[in-house]
Amino acid sequence: MTMARRTGLTKSINGRVEGCLVTNPVNLRYLTGFTGSNGAALLRGDGSVVLATDGRYAEQAAGESPDVEIIVTRDVAGDLVRRAVADGLRTLAIERRHVTLLAADRLAQAAGDVELVDLDDAVERLRVVKDDDELDALRRACAVTDEVFDAVTERLRRGVTEREISWAMSEEMNRRSASPAFASIVAFGANSARPHHQPTDRALETGDLVKLDFGALVDGYHADMTRTVVVGPPADWQKALHALVHDVQQALRDEVRVGAVPAQLDEQMRIRIEGSGHEVAHGLGHGVGLEIHEAPFLVDQSPADTLVERVPVTVEPGVYLPGRGGVRIEDTVVVTADGAESLTRSPRELLVI
Ligand code: ZN
Ligand code: ZN
Repeated sequence: MTMARRTGLTKSINGRVEGCLVTNPVNLRYLTGFTGSNGAALLRGDGSVVLATDGRYAEQAAGESPDVEIIVTRDVAGDLVRRAVADGLRTLAIERRHVTLLAADRLAQAAGDVELVDLDDAVERLRVVKDDDELDALRRACAVTDEVFDAVTERLRRGVTEREISWAMSEEMNRRSASPAFASIVAFGANSARPHHQPTDRALETGDLVKLDFGALVDGYHADMTRTVVVGPPADWQKALHALVHDVQQALRDEVRVGAVPAQLDEQMRIRIEGSGHEVAHGLGHGVGLEIHEAPFLVDQSPADTLVERVPVTVEPGVYLPGRGGVRIEDTVVVTADGAESLTRSPRELLVI
Protein backbone atom coordinates (compact mmCIF):
# COMPACT_ATOMS: atom_id res chain seq x y z
CA MET A 1 0.00 0.00 0.00
CA THR A 2 2.77 2.47 0.82
CA MET A 3 4.22 1.98 -2.65
CA ALA A 4 0.91 3.05 -4.25
CA ARG A 5 0.87 6.11 -1.98
CA ARG A 6 4.39 7.06 -3.03
CA THR A 7 3.39 6.72 -6.67
CA GLY A 8 0.52 9.10 -5.92
CA LEU A 9 2.95 11.64 -4.52
CA THR A 10 5.34 11.27 -7.44
CA LYS A 11 2.43 11.89 -9.81
CA SER A 12 1.23 14.94 -7.93
CA ILE A 13 4.66 16.60 -8.04
CA ASN A 14 5.51 15.24 -11.46
CA GLY A 15 7.97 17.43 -13.30
CA ARG A 16 8.04 20.20 -10.70
CA VAL A 17 10.80 18.74 -8.54
CA GLU A 18 13.27 15.86 -8.74
CA GLY A 19 12.84 14.72 -5.16
CA CYS A 20 10.94 15.21 -1.90
CA LEU A 21 12.26 15.24 1.63
CA VAL A 22 9.52 14.10 4.00
CA THR A 23 10.13 14.89 7.66
CA ASN A 24 6.67 15.11 9.24
CA PRO A 25 6.31 11.81 11.20
CA VAL A 26 2.66 11.32 10.15
CA ASN A 27 3.43 11.83 6.47
CA LEU A 28 6.50 9.63 6.82
CA ARG A 29 4.36 6.83 8.27
CA TYR A 30 1.82 7.25 5.48
CA LEU A 31 4.46 6.97 2.75
CA THR A 32 6.80 4.35 4.22
CA GLY A 33 4.98 2.55 7.07
CA PHE A 34 7.69 3.62 9.53
CA THR A 35 6.23 4.60 12.93
CA GLY A 36 9.35 5.63 14.88
CA SER A 37 9.67 9.11 16.36
CA ASN A 38 12.83 10.06 14.48
CA GLY A 39 13.09 9.61 10.75
CA ALA A 40 12.96 11.21 7.32
CA ALA A 41 12.62 9.96 3.78
CA LEU A 42 14.03 11.04 0.45
CA LEU A 43 11.69 10.16 -2.40
CA ARG A 44 13.10 10.60 -5.87
CA GLY A 45 11.23 11.14 -9.09
CA ASP A 46 12.23 7.68 -10.34
CA GLY A 47 10.28 6.09 -7.46
CA SER A 48 13.27 5.12 -5.33
CA VAL A 49 13.16 5.85 -1.60
CA VAL A 50 15.75 6.22 1.13
CA LEU A 51 14.53 6.13 4.74
CA ALA A 52 16.86 7.53 7.40
CA THR A 53 16.53 6.86 11.12
CA ASP A 54 18.80 6.54 14.14
CA GLY A 55 20.14 3.38 15.79
CA ARG A 56 17.20 3.02 18.19
CA TYR A 57 14.87 2.35 15.29
CA ALA A 58 17.08 0.49 12.82
CA GLU A 59 15.47 -2.89 13.42
CA GLN A 60 11.95 -1.47 13.56
CA ALA A 61 12.47 0.43 10.28
CA ALA A 62 13.63 -2.73 8.51
CA GLY A 63 10.48 -4.53 9.68
CA GLU A 64 8.01 -1.73 8.94
CA SER A 65 9.51 -0.56 5.64
CA PRO A 66 10.94 -3.70 4.02
CA ASP A 67 10.74 -2.30 0.49
CA VAL A 68 12.92 0.80 0.92
CA GLU A 69 16.62 1.50 1.37
CA ILE A 70 17.43 2.36 5.00
CA ILE A 71 20.33 4.38 6.34
CA VAL A 72 21.12 4.74 10.04
CA THR A 73 22.38 8.15 11.09
CA ARG A 74 21.96 10.78 13.79
CA ASP A 75 21.32 13.59 11.28
CA VAL A 76 18.41 12.07 9.36
CA ALA A 77 17.32 15.06 7.30
CA GLY A 78 20.82 16.49 6.77
CA ASP A 79 22.22 13.20 5.51
CA LEU A 80 19.31 12.75 3.09
CA VAL A 81 19.89 16.23 1.66
CA ARG A 82 23.59 15.42 1.23
CA ARG A 83 22.46 12.22 -0.49
CA ALA A 84 20.31 14.28 -2.86
CA VAL A 85 23.33 16.47 -3.60
CA ALA A 86 25.52 13.43 -4.24
CA ASP A 87 22.85 11.97 -6.55
CA GLY A 88 22.91 15.17 -8.61
CA LEU A 89 19.36 16.35 -7.88
CA ARG A 90 18.77 19.97 -8.84
CA THR A 91 15.50 20.59 -6.99
CA LEU A 92 14.27 19.15 -3.71
CA ALA A 93 10.87 19.81 -2.12
CA ILE A 94 10.78 20.10 1.66
CA GLU A 95 7.84 20.32 4.04
CA ARG A 96 8.21 23.98 4.94
CA ARG A 97 5.07 23.83 7.12
CA HIS A 98 6.65 21.23 9.39
CA VAL A 99 10.24 22.47 9.63
CA THR A 100 11.58 24.68 12.43
CA LEU A 101 13.68 27.73 11.56
CA LEU A 102 16.77 26.00 12.96
CA ALA A 103 16.16 22.88 10.87
CA ALA A 104 15.53 25.03 7.78
CA ASP A 105 18.92 26.76 8.25
CA ARG A 106 20.66 23.39 8.48
CA LEU A 107 18.86 22.01 5.44
CA ALA A 108 19.81 25.09 3.40
CA GLN A 109 23.43 24.64 4.45
CA ALA A 110 23.46 20.95 3.49
CA ALA A 111 21.67 21.64 0.19
CA GLY A 112 24.47 23.67 -1.41
CA ASP A 113 23.40 24.26 -5.01
CA VAL A 114 20.29 22.09 -4.81
CA GLU A 115 17.26 24.37 -4.96
CA LEU A 116 14.90 23.82 -2.02
CA VAL A 117 11.24 24.38 -2.87
CA ASP A 118 8.05 23.93 -0.86
CA LEU A 119 6.27 20.57 -0.91
CA ASP A 120 3.33 22.46 0.63
CA ASP A 121 0.47 20.14 1.68
CA ALA A 122 0.96 17.62 -1.15
CA VAL A 123 1.07 14.63 1.23
CA GLU A 124 -1.80 15.89 3.40
CA ARG A 125 -3.91 16.18 0.24
CA LEU A 126 -3.15 12.60 -0.74
CA ARG A 127 -4.13 11.47 2.75
CA VAL A 128 -7.66 12.86 2.39
CA VAL A 129 -8.86 9.89 0.30
CA LYS A 130 -8.35 6.64 2.18
CA ASP A 131 -7.25 3.32 0.68
CA ASP A 132 -8.62 -0.10 1.72
CA ASP A 133 -6.10 -0.64 4.54
CA GLU A 134 -6.91 2.75 6.00
CA LEU A 135 -10.69 2.30 5.86
CA ASP A 136 -10.31 -1.11 7.43
CA ALA A 137 -8.29 0.30 10.36
CA LEU A 138 -10.81 3.12 10.79
CA ARG A 139 -13.72 0.67 10.81
CA ARG A 140 -12.03 -1.36 13.53
CA ALA A 141 -11.30 1.80 15.55
CA CYS A 142 -14.96 2.83 15.29
CA ALA A 143 -16.19 -0.65 16.25
CA VAL A 144 -14.04 -0.58 19.39
CA THR A 145 -15.39 2.91 20.16
CA ASP A 146 -18.98 1.61 20.02
CA GLU A 147 -18.10 -1.29 22.33
CA VAL A 148 -16.42 1.07 24.79
CA PHE A 149 -19.52 3.29 24.84
CA ASP A 150 -21.65 0.28 25.84
CA ALA A 151 -19.18 -0.78 28.51
CA VAL A 152 -18.79 2.71 29.96
CA THR A 153 -22.47 3.62 30.15
CA GLU A 154 -22.81 0.61 32.49
CA ARG A 155 -20.41 2.37 34.83
CA LEU A 156 -22.34 5.65 34.93
CA ARG A 157 -23.64 5.44 38.49
CA ARG A 158 -24.35 8.31 40.86
CA GLY A 159 -21.14 9.29 42.65
CA VAL A 160 -18.69 8.18 39.95
CA THR A 161 -16.38 11.02 38.85
CA GLU A 162 -15.53 12.35 35.40
CA ARG A 163 -11.93 11.26 35.93
CA GLU A 164 -12.99 7.71 36.81
CA ILE A 165 -15.09 7.43 33.66
CA SER A 166 -12.23 8.80 31.55
CA TRP A 167 -9.96 6.17 33.09
CA ALA A 168 -12.58 3.47 32.50
CA MET A 169 -12.62 4.42 28.82
CA SER A 170 -8.84 3.97 28.56
CA GLU A 171 -9.12 0.63 30.35
CA GLU A 172 -11.89 -0.62 28.06
CA MET A 173 -9.88 0.40 24.99
CA ASN A 174 -6.76 -1.26 26.32
CA ARG A 175 -8.75 -4.45 26.89
CA ARG A 176 -9.55 -4.37 23.17
CA SER A 177 -5.92 -3.81 22.06
CA ALA A 178 -6.59 -0.12 21.36
CA SER A 179 -5.76 3.13 23.09
CA PRO A 180 -7.49 6.53 23.33
CA ALA A 181 -7.25 8.49 20.07
CA PHE A 182 -7.17 11.72 22.14
CA ALA A 183 -7.79 12.83 25.73
CA SER A 184 -11.37 11.66 26.31
CA ILE A 185 -13.88 14.38 27.14
CA VAL A 186 -16.13 13.38 30.04
CA ALA A 187 -18.39 16.21 31.18
CA PHE A 188 -21.13 16.00 33.83
CA GLY A 189 -23.91 18.52 34.43
CA ALA A 190 -22.98 22.15 33.76
CA ASN A 191 -19.52 21.02 32.60
CA SER A 192 -21.16 19.57 29.48
CA ALA A 193 -21.71 23.17 28.33
CA ARG A 194 -17.96 23.44 27.71
CA PRO A 195 -17.23 22.02 24.26
CA HIS A 196 -13.73 20.81 25.25
CA HIS A 197 -14.00 20.19 28.98
CA GLN A 198 -11.24 18.21 30.70
CA PRO A 199 -12.27 15.53 33.23
CA THR A 200 -12.34 16.60 36.90
CA ASP A 201 -13.31 15.04 40.23
CA ARG A 202 -16.90 16.20 39.75
CA ALA A 203 -19.23 13.36 40.86
CA LEU A 204 -22.27 12.29 38.87
CA GLU A 205 -25.63 13.50 40.18
CA THR A 206 -29.25 12.85 39.30
CA GLY A 207 -30.37 15.30 36.64
CA ASP A 208 -26.95 15.61 34.95
CA LEU A 209 -26.40 15.59 31.25
CA VAL A 210 -23.31 13.48 30.52
CA LYS A 211 -21.28 14.31 27.44
CA LEU A 212 -18.76 11.68 26.32
CA ASP A 213 -16.47 12.59 23.39
CA PHE A 214 -13.87 9.92 22.75
CA GLY A 215 -12.50 7.47 20.24
CA ALA A 216 -10.21 4.48 19.87
CA LEU A 217 -6.87 4.49 18.08
CA VAL A 218 -6.27 1.32 16.06
CA ASP A 219 -3.22 0.78 13.84
CA GLY A 220 -2.64 4.54 13.74
CA TYR A 221 -6.22 5.45 12.77
CA HIS A 222 -8.42 7.65 14.95
CA ALA A 223 -12.13 7.17 15.64
CA ASP A 224 -14.14 10.10 17.01
CA MET A 225 -17.61 9.90 18.55
CA THR A 226 -19.72 11.93 20.98
CA ARG A 227 -22.86 10.87 22.79
CA THR A 228 -24.79 12.83 25.40
CA VAL A 229 -26.91 10.89 27.90
CA VAL A 230 -28.94 11.96 30.93
CA VAL A 231 -29.03 10.64 34.49
CA GLY A 232 -32.55 10.24 35.84
CA PRO A 233 -35.73 11.42 34.17
CA PRO A 234 -34.77 14.18 31.71
CA ALA A 235 -36.07 17.71 32.24
CA ASP A 236 -38.05 19.25 29.39
CA TRP A 237 -35.17 21.55 28.40
CA GLN A 238 -32.79 18.57 28.24
CA LYS A 239 -35.18 16.61 26.03
CA ALA A 240 -35.68 19.62 23.75
CA LEU A 241 -31.96 20.35 23.50
CA HIS A 242 -31.13 16.74 22.72
CA ALA A 243 -33.92 16.49 20.14
CA LEU A 244 -32.68 19.65 18.42
CA VAL A 245 -29.07 18.45 18.15
CA HIS A 246 -30.21 14.97 17.17
CA ASP A 247 -32.26 16.35 14.27
CA VAL A 248 -29.51 18.71 13.10
CA GLN A 249 -26.99 15.87 13.18
CA GLN A 250 -29.29 13.52 11.28
CA ALA A 251 -30.01 16.19 8.66
CA LEU A 252 -26.33 16.94 8.14
CA ARG A 253 -25.32 13.29 7.99
CA ASP A 254 -27.87 12.95 5.20
CA GLU A 255 -26.13 15.79 3.33
CA VAL A 256 -22.66 14.22 3.42
CA ARG A 257 -22.15 12.75 -0.04
CA VAL A 258 -20.00 12.98 -3.17
CA GLY A 259 -20.00 16.57 -4.38
CA ALA A 260 -20.94 18.16 -1.04
CA VAL A 261 -19.04 21.38 -0.27
CA PRO A 262 -17.57 21.39 3.28
CA ALA A 263 -18.20 25.09 3.91
CA GLN A 264 -21.82 24.71 2.77
CA LEU A 265 -22.42 21.80 5.13
CA ASP A 266 -21.11 23.96 7.96
CA GLU A 267 -23.36 26.80 6.80
CA GLN A 268 -26.41 24.53 6.86
CA MET A 269 -25.63 23.55 10.44
CA ARG A 270 -25.34 27.25 11.40
CA ILE A 271 -28.67 28.08 9.80
CA ARG A 272 -30.41 25.27 11.67
CA ILE A 273 -28.88 25.99 15.08
CA GLU A 274 -29.17 29.77 14.86
CA GLY A 275 -32.69 29.39 13.46
CA SER A 276 -33.63 27.65 16.69
CA GLY A 277 -32.39 30.63 18.70
CA HIS A 278 -29.05 29.17 19.80
CA GLU A 279 -25.43 30.10 19.22
CA VAL A 280 -22.92 28.06 17.23
CA ALA A 281 -19.74 27.29 19.20
CA HIS A 282 -17.69 25.34 16.64
CA GLY A 283 -17.54 23.97 13.11
CA LEU A 284 -19.49 20.95 11.88
CA GLY A 285 -16.65 18.46 11.70
CA HIS A 286 -13.28 17.38 10.37
CA GLY A 287 -11.50 14.62 8.55
CA VAL A 288 -9.97 11.75 10.57
CA GLY A 289 -7.19 9.34 9.73
CA LEU A 290 -3.60 9.17 10.91
CA GLU A 291 -4.45 12.39 12.77
CA ILE A 292 -7.54 13.07 14.85
CA HIS A 293 -8.08 16.39 13.06
CA GLU A 294 -7.06 16.47 9.41
CA ALA A 295 -8.33 17.69 6.05
CA PRO A 296 -11.06 18.15 4.98
CA PHE A 297 -12.33 20.53 7.65
CA LEU A 298 -16.09 21.09 7.65
CA VAL A 299 -15.86 24.73 8.70
CA ASP A 300 -16.85 28.07 7.19
CA GLN A 301 -13.32 28.90 5.96
CA SER A 302 -12.85 25.54 4.21
CA PRO A 303 -11.42 25.46 0.69
CA ALA A 304 -13.90 24.82 -2.11
CA ASP A 305 -12.85 21.18 -2.71
CA THR A 306 -15.92 18.96 -2.75
CA LEU A 307 -16.17 15.64 -0.93
CA VAL A 308 -15.35 12.47 -2.84
CA GLU A 309 -15.70 8.77 -2.10
CA ARG A 310 -13.55 7.23 0.63
CA VAL A 311 -13.22 10.44 2.62
CA PRO A 312 -14.03 9.99 6.33
CA VAL A 313 -15.31 13.02 8.23
CA THR A 314 -17.00 13.68 11.54
CA VAL A 315 -20.44 15.26 11.81
CA GLU A 316 -20.64 16.85 15.25
CA PRO A 317 -23.09 19.67 15.87
CA GLY A 318 -23.48 20.83 19.47
CA VAL A 319 -25.51 23.35 21.43
CA TYR A 320 -24.22 24.59 24.78
CA LEU A 321 -26.12 26.47 27.49
CA PRO A 322 -23.55 27.98 29.89
CA GLY A 323 -24.19 27.06 33.53
CA ARG A 324 -26.76 24.39 32.62
CA GLY A 325 -25.38 21.88 30.17
CA GLY A 326 -24.76 21.07 26.54
CA VAL A 327 -25.46 18.37 23.98
CA ARG A 328 -23.19 17.21 21.17
CA ILE A 329 -23.77 14.19 18.95
CA GLU A 330 -20.87 13.13 16.76
CA ASP A 331 -20.25 10.30 14.36
CA THR A 332 -17.36 9.32 12.15
CA VAL A 333 -18.86 8.73 8.70
CA VAL A 334 -17.29 7.91 5.35
CA VAL A 335 -18.43 9.18 1.95
CA THR A 336 -19.62 6.34 -0.29
CA ALA A 337 -20.93 6.09 -3.86
CA ASP A 338 -24.48 6.74 -2.65
CA GLY A 339 -24.21 9.00 0.40
CA ALA A 340 -22.32 8.34 3.59
CA GLU A 341 -21.96 5.37 5.89
CA SER A 342 -21.69 5.90 9.62
CA LEU A 343 -18.76 3.92 11.03
CA THR A 344 -19.70 4.73 14.62
CA ARG A 345 -23.09 3.20 15.33
CA SER A 346 -23.98 3.67 18.99
CA PRO A 347 -27.63 4.66 19.51
CA ARG A 348 -28.26 8.38 19.03
CA GLU A 349 -31.57 8.62 20.88
CA LEU A 350 -31.47 10.18 24.35
CA LEU A 351 -30.26 7.42 26.64
CA VAL A 352 -31.65 7.73 30.18
CA ILE A 353 -29.42 6.18 32.84
ZN1 ZN B 1 -15.02 14.19 19.13
ZN1 ZN C 1 -14.40 15.52 16.35
